[in-house]
Amino acid sequence: MTSGPKALAAFRRSLLAARPELDRQLPWSQTSDPWAILVSEFMLQQTQVSRVLPRYDAFLDTFPTASACAAVPLSRVLLLWQGLGFTRRAKNLHDSARLIHEKFDGRVPATLAELRELPGVGAYTAAAVASFAFGVEAAALDTNVGRVLARALANERLTTKVAEALADDVLDRDDPGQWNQLMIDLGAQFCRAAPRCDDCPVRRRCAWRQAGGEDPALRSAGVSTPQSTFAGSLRQQRGAVLRRLGAGPSTARALARVEGIDPDRLEGVLQDLQRDGLIERMARTFRLSEG
Ligand code: SF4
Repeated sequence: MTSGPKALAAFRRSLLAARPELDRQLPWSQTSDPWAILVSEFMLQQTQVSRVLPRYDAFLDTFPTASACAAVPLSRVLLLWQGLGFTRRAKNLHDSARLIHEKFDGRVPATLAELRELPGVGAYTAAAVASFAFGVEAAALDTNVGRVLARALANERLTTKVAEALADDVLDRDDPGQWNQLMIDLGAQFCRAAPRCDDCPVRRRCAWRQAGGEDPALRSAGVSTPQSTFAGSLRQQRGAVLRRLGAGPSTARALARVEGIDPDRLEGVLQDLQRDGLIERMARTFRLSEG
């Protein structure tokens, strides 16, 4: 481990200086509206920026506040979510909006503990929202940041505990939100699974780049394994059913004839979606949940 106080300070200066190069001018990094930031964090969980961008503005135009989102049935949220995948997040966001409306007077809470009360908000999302929107001193540790920590600062594999401590040690207390965004941007644009070290703006302060050896990010804490194949997956089947029900209620028999839906797996897929509260059965037809 090479991350003594001097090395941390040098890395911090180097990353802050790289801000113009790293800033992607993403809409959620140009706002301090906590609801807009919370929406972006839900959309970005497991989904690429390029797929989120076209849907983000439309969602906020329709639901500019948590209370506006809380006031509509889930089916309205699911329609706007189409194309983003992992639809449980849409239900979690809708449930969160209702909790914000009922318990927090329509305002996204500012503390880590209160943010963690919202459905679907884990340690990373709470730290991201708290730091971006409220300047709370909390390090956001996701896959991207985990890679940066293991490579640039530690040059060794990290356990969750060590990664969390290191993320906290290197956090820029003057502007934690900006710092978290820079770490995420570095991981997304340069310190990827296949890193672009030759072009990286912090390469001179990177422990792995300087020392060489095996990639320390492999199997490090916070560094995820790739998603399973989409084609033929339960995710694909769930998405096909939700897309069809977005056009209106349907019987199981009619769903089984829709291109892309596997009739042999349909019953299990319908049960799965009902269990998640995303669709509901009305006599012989299924529809998006009105809950
Ligand atoms: S030099 Fe390479 S390994 Fe180091 S932070 Fe940059 S991209 Fe990551």
